[in-house]
Amino acid sequence: MEQGKYGKMKLEPEKGEIPLREGILKFPSSPEDEPHLIASRCKSCGDIAFPPKVFCGKCEGEETEEFLLSNRAKVYTYTIVHQMGIPGIEVPYALVIVKFPEDEELLIAGQITGCNPEEVKIGMEVETVIDKVRSGILGFLTGESRDVIGYKFRPVGKK
Ligand SMILES: [Zn+2]
Repeated sequence: MEQGKYGKMKLEPEKGEIPLREGILKFPSSPEDEPHLIASRCKSCGDIAFPPKVFCGKCEGEETEEFLLSNRAKVYTYTIVHQMGIPGIEVPYALVIVKFPEDEELLIAGQITGCNPEEVKIGMEVETVIDKVRSGILGFLTGESRDVIGYKFRPVGKK
């Protein structure tokens, strides 16, 4: 893998950064590794859910297991957000809904990074990256400004 493919790739949250949500991101274990979203798979019917679920929403099975989605997905649809809605996210940005090869019915929304919003196309191949999703959120208790990290999708082949 070429040097710097993941740009600001993170191996773990840095000091002062807070994860968007616990238990949904698998950080790369080495610079050659890729980040993955952590989903759940039902042990009875095989249904995959993200964010992971303890119980299956499809068959009501009570046993699920951790399931790593592949790093690559395809843009199913997208929207360009022009209005400031969430503090700490700059507009305009593209919000994409992607499909992973593991489950045709599973749709996951996320911000795109590494290209301009108008470059986003339906069917575009993207990879999962870990990046800052919101900046400058004031800590509730400390009053410190912190960044929130989470997942984004980046066009394959873009730096
Ligand atoms: Zn099930």
